[in-house]
Amino acid sequence: MDRHNAEIRRLKDMIDGCSRAVVFTGAGISTESGIPDFRSPNGIWSKTTPIYFDEFVSSEAARREAWRRKFHIDQDIDNAEPNRGHRAVARLVREGVVSAVITQNIDGLHQLSGVPEENIIELHGNGTYAKCLTCATRYDLEPIKKDFLEADIIPECRFCGGLIKGATISFGQAMPEDEMRRAQDATLACDLFIAIGSSLVVYPAAGFPAIAKENGAQLVILNREPTDLDHLADLVLNLEIGPTLGEAANVN
Ligand code: NAD
Repeated sequence: MDRHNAEIRRLKDMIDGCSRAVVFTGAGISTESGIPDFRSPNGIWSKTTPIYFDEFVSSEAARREAWRRKFHIDQDIDNAEPNRGHRAVARLVREGVVSAVITQNIDGLHQLSGVPEENIIELHGNGTYAKCLTCATRYDLEPIKKDFLEADIIPECRFCGGLIKGATISFGQAMPEDEMRRAQDATLACDLFIAIGSSLVVYPAAGFPAIAKENGAQLVILNREPTDLDHLADLVLNLEIGPTLGEAANVN
């Protein structure tokens, strides 16, 4: 058995031996679906810099640029289908092995792969709708997109005049309280925490693997490149996500 097969075997054994696992995902699980991540060599941050929340609020030019980028990235997301990695996670949830999928992703692919909404915790929001920053009214994206692309209109709330923003969490924006609490509870209740496709540098999200480990859970990190938290892990797999999880969960 070569080293990679032995590592995947070990992951399988850890999954079989645990009583309650949590999966924590980052942009890396969706690259095999054609959505670029942020920090790979060809990732989004190699081409552009993030727009911080206070810039979005204070500058019309930043809002225009944020909407332009969003509708550009959405082209990839709209066309994306769940891949083998998502399907493997969905199977582990269905089998009752994984109790929660904590995700930093905003692409909705865990839902599309069949993970029930109640098992998904979206730490950085969801890119498939927009929200008023003042009164939290929810807006469909289609009319906003049409007005923006055809008439360069930056949306404002029709009820309170507040700024409308895609329902994702930007750098510098407060984290969603409910989701943070649910993620904390799930992390503290698990005996196996599997971090998948995340560079583990965006905090507070990246704090959960260490919380799990300190609380006595075993920690697995599956990521193509090394991460800063590898030294904490019981098992580090520097492998491709789809084939690795597919193998470990018997999913094609
Ligand atoms: P990241 O870009 O910082 O890290 C992704 C990691 O995944 C990289 O270290 C890369 O080596 C690894 N990776 C990529 N493809 C892989 C594959 N096929 N197999 C194994 N490893 C692979 O992503 P992050 O840690 O999630 O942090 C970035 C932030 O970007 C998150 O907050 C998230 O909200 C946001 N984001 C989301 C999406 C999405 O929803 N799909 C896409 C881009 C960015």
